[in-house]
Amino acid sequence: MRSNLFDLDYEELSKVIRSWDEPAYRTQQIWQGIFQKFWNNPEEFTTLSLSLRKKLDQKYIFGVLNPEKDLQSNDGSTRKILYRLEDNAAIETVLMGYTDRNTVCISSQVGCGMGCKFCATGNMGFIRNLSPGEIIEQVVKAAADLGQNGKRLTNVVFMGMGEPFHNYQPVMKAVRILNDPRGFGMGTRRFTISTVGLIPEIRRFMKDNTQINLAISLHAADDLLRSSIVPINRKYPLTELIAVCRQYIQKTNRRITFEWALIDGVNDTEEQARKLSNLVGDMLAHVNIIQLNPVSHYGGKPAEEEKALKFKKILTDSGISCTIRLRRGIDIQAGCGQLASESN
Ligand code: SAH
Ligand code: SF4
Repeated sequence: MRSNLFDLDYEELSKVIRSWDEPAYRTQQIWQGIFQKFWNNPEEFTTLSLSLRKKLDQKYIFGVLNPEKDLQSNDGSTRKILYRLEDNAAIETVLMGYTDRNTVCISSQVGCGMGCKFCATGNMGFIRNLSPGEIIEQVVKAAADLGQNGKRLTNVVFMGMGEPFHNYQPVMKAVRILNDPRGFGMGTRRFTISTVGLIPEIRRFMKDNTQINLAISLHAADDLLRSSIVPINRKYPLTELIAVCRQYIQKTNRRITFEWALIDGVNDTEEQARKLSNLVGDMLAHVNIIQLNPVSHYGGKPAEEEKALKFKKILTDSGISCTIRLRRGIDIQAGCGQLASESN
């Protein structure tokens, strides 16, 4: 089987090129082809010699993502693409257009093993990790697509399927490759990793000290409630999670975003809002409230509008920066927590 060209970083590809007795500048030409011109088949690489094109084609595949479905939301600016992978597994990627930016929401795993009660991906269970190349190609395809319409990709969020910190190294390698100015050249500040709160990996991320943004899916402000909807809380309880978040902010001086899917009658109470204020009120933090998106296996409902506004007010009154995230792509099941390739 051929290897995926997108799995290689610059040094790895250079080594291959050297071992084929090709001049060093070939690496740069190949990277320009795949990351800047978005070529995806060997014939397009007219900058290379015919023999090198052939050799590359024999040993490497220029991407492994096969678009199978492409759904456009009736909100006019959200699209969801289902990609079939080589082993027949499937993942979903969501493209969101805003007035000032274009964001792609990518997957890091097929399924997810964290089992959050309200999440469709969690309901699938863990199937497998994605390779760096499979992660990278979601971003490159999004950029190519936008480019055809004269637009630029500005942000990448790991908020699709999977728990990115459960697939730490491939995720970080993907960002490193996408960041490399010899190829795609996307600034690390434009990436956001969202995690359910895996403490060892948050520590590792803190040490790695990249400029990638960090978001933590909190959803509850006490252990009893959090463990009941986010099972990993039993392993990594809130007090420890918040303590490591504090360390992270102190060490990196970077803001953390806390995500909160507001569920009617579950975590939309005044009590939870107050507990949350006490937990994060003195931190360099932002709270992102997401109205729960409907998923078939979970009976919870989104909080009422009024409750959401009240919840937000309690936070802002205690000086916490807070936004209610616009719900998008619900009609095509492209909202947070709605991605699950099996249901398609
Ligand atoms: N595994 C990571 C990233 C993917 S989920 C994480 O959990 O952070 C992206 C966000 O969507 C998370 O904050 C997640 O908790 C939230 N989410 C999951 N299911 C949801 C649903 N049904 N409605 C709204 N948000 C949901
Ligand atoms: Fe996994 Fe995130 Fe869904 Fe939880 S919310 S099951 S961590 S994808």
